[in-house]
Amino acid sequence: MAAFTVDIDECRSAWTDDKPHYRPEPALASAIEADVAIVGGGFTGVSTALHLARRFPERRVALLEARQLANGASGRNGGMVLNWVNGVEHDDPARARRIYDVTRSGIDLIEDTIARYHLAAGFRRDGCLEVFTDPARAAAAATQAEWLQAAGIPIRFLDSAELAATLRIEGAAGALFDPHAAQLDGVAYLRALRPVLQALGVTVYEDTPVLSVREGAECRLATPGGEVRAKAIVLATNAYTPRLGYFTGGILPLHSHVIATEPVSAARWAEVGWRGVAGFSDDLDRIAYASLTRSGPDGAGRLVFGGGSNASYGYQYGGKTTWAGPADTGFAAVEARMRRYLPGAADIRVTSRWTGPVAVTLSRVCTMGVRGEHRNVYFALGYSGHGVTLANLAGRVLTDIYSGDDVGWRDLPFYQQRLLWIPPDPMRWMGYHAYTSMTGRSPRRRL
Ligand SMILES: Cc1cc2nc3c(=O)[nH]c(=O)nc-3n(C[C@H](O)[C@H](O)[C@H](O)COP(=O)(O)OP(=O)(O)OC[C@H]3O[C@@H](n4cnc5c(N)ncnc54)[C@H](O)[C@@H]3O)c2cc1C
Repeated sequence: MAAFTVDIDECRSAWTDDKPHYRPEPALASAIEADVAIVGGGFTGVSTALHLARRFPERRVALLEARQLANGASGRNGGMVLNWVNGVEHDDPARARRIYDVTRSGIDLIEDTIARYHLAAGFRRDGCLEVFTDPARAAAAATQAEWLQAAGIPIRFLDSAELAATLRIEGAAGALFDPHAAQLDGVAYLRALRPVLQALGVTVYEDTPVLSVREGAECRLATPGGEVRAKAIVLATNAYTPRLGYFTGGILPLHSHVIATEPVSAARWAEVGWRGVAGFSDDLDRIAYASLTRSGPDGAGRLVFGGGSNASYGYQYGGKTTWAGPADTGFAAVEARMRRYLPGAADIRVTSRWTGPVAVTLSRVCTMGVRGEHRNVYFALGYSGHGVTLANLAGRVLTDIYSGDDVGWRDLPFYQQRLLWIPPDPMRWMGYHAYTSMTGRSPRRRL
């Protein structure tokens, strides 16, 4: 593989490369006032804008995106739309059912939004798999599936023969199949939602980085083109949030390296052993994840594949965002894992490589809520690589908190969740690298 430099702020994903030319909205060029100013145009920001505009059509909602909608993780991810809240153990049936139902309603919400506004968003809901690479873990998963079904959760265990009929993964001993999980093309979805937001009265500014936030009864956001004064703001900046001075001790901004193959036909993927399922992840701590798009010509699909080893995730000192050498190692590790799992794809070329920002919390549980002396700084972040569903649900949660109608969310683990403290650099950098190289795992603590 040729050596090249990767800049997390600059790189683009295969999801973006497959799209027609995109014209960003003009940057903010004068001072403005808003009732709510949303910082960030990923799933969190766009879903919040959508719900606010629908619920409060008379309020002035402005969305400020540093680059283009879907520039961050929302446009660079593995595309899997999953149930569950990362970091929450399932030990009580009623609780497990509650969390599954909430996340399932989050996926329903995405599906309903696509149907309501007729969005072309590469959405397919034929389920995702969690694959077990060790017989003992597969046996435990089979028992867990029985427990989940008894709790009313429709997750099924597939033994290795059943799994091979759906997805042939070398070394897999079984899998949990969630029929309600899905795949979403985040770039297509968010770009298609832009005119919807505008029709609902949201003003969208792209190429508009917020440089600083001054809190008050009226918050002041500095941007290169003018100041925004807003009665409330929403931090929808996930892994970028520490750069604005928020959650610096709660978020570990990791980077996940991803590759995508050239598009090949569905028949060719069936030969490889991939039939009728949107995606899978494995059971390793440095999780590998993959999904199959249908974005190429005539519905041909690219395999999007990420993670799978220490080398395929990175934390750079001080949140630095440019890699030279080490990124090559990371991409090579991702590709090696993909080739090992899918040997039948040996002749299918990898044509895209990119890196995306993941906001990891120490417990892996995300947080959604409101803060600040004036209780007007809303936030939702820390999805720990599991945020396609949750960041889209965040818009509804934050809108309910903004409305004062949030009782229905208060029992959920992400509601106003206090994030466990992660020490600053250089301790953070040294600790992360020492721990991951000694254990092969990423640091984690239960709540
Ligand atoms: C490689 C990768 C693979 C993943 N795979 C999956 C998966 O398969 N399934 C899953 O559920 N989750 C996955 N995730 C996680 C998921 O994509 C994220 O949790 C989710 O997209 C977060 O959405 P967001 O809107 O909060 O953040 P982002 O999408 O990161 O959006 C933040 C936006 O804020 C903008 N911004 C930042 N700073 C400023 C500023 N100062 N001013 C204005 N704008 C600013 C950025 O440009 C960006 O567009 C993955 C993440 C990555 C990186």
